[in-house]
Amino acid sequence: MLLLNEEKIRDLYSSLNLGESCIDKIIETHKKVLCLGESNKFEHAGVICCETEKINYFTDNHPTRVSYECHSNKNYIVIHNHPKSTPFSPQDLYEFQEKMFHRCLSIQGHDGTAYVLYRESENSIKMTKNEISEFFARVKNLPEHVDLSNKAKKEIAGETIAHVMGWQFIKEEVA
Ligand SMILES: [Zn+2]
Repeated sequence: MLLLNEEKIRDLYSSLNLGESCIDKIIETHKKVLCLGESNKFEHAGVICCETEKINYFTDNHPTRVSYECHSNKNYIVIHNHPKSTPFSPQDLYEFQEKMFHRCLSIQGHDGTAYVLYRESENSIKMTKNEISEFFARVKNLPEHVDLSNKAKKEIAGETIAHVMGWQFIKEEVA
C-alpha cells in the first residue's frame, strides 16, 4: 500500500489548527479509504465530523464516483480515494463549493499522492457546474505544443479554480 508517511499527512493539514486526536482520525481515514479502494478499485469516502470526531464511510461501488452525506451543519473533513490517482474532478470542486460546512476535501490517490482543499472563509465567487466543467475542458484542450499530461492539466485546472474561489490547494507525493 502506497501511503504518505504520517509526517507528510500532518503537513497537509498543519494550517487547519486541528487537535491531535482529529489528526489521528485523518491519518486513519487516509489509510482506510486507500485500503478499501485497493481491495475493489471503487471510490470510498470517509467523513469526519470535526466536533464529535466520528467517521462515517460511504461508497457507491463505482470506480470514479462516491456520494456521501453529512447530517448536520457541523464542520466536516471529507477524504476519498481516487483509484487512478487523478486530482480533484469538476464534480469534487462543485460539491465543495456548495457544501459550506465542508471545511476540507481530500483525495488519497492509489499511487500515494494526496490532495487537500480547504476553505478559510466563504467562497469569493460561485461557479456553476457547467462553468467548472468548461474550464476543465479548455485546459484539457490546450494546444499540442503544451506538453502536459492529462493529469497535470487536471491539476492546473483544479488549482486555478481553487485559487479563484479563495481556497487552499495542497499536494503531497510519496518521495
Ligand atoms: Zn473525487
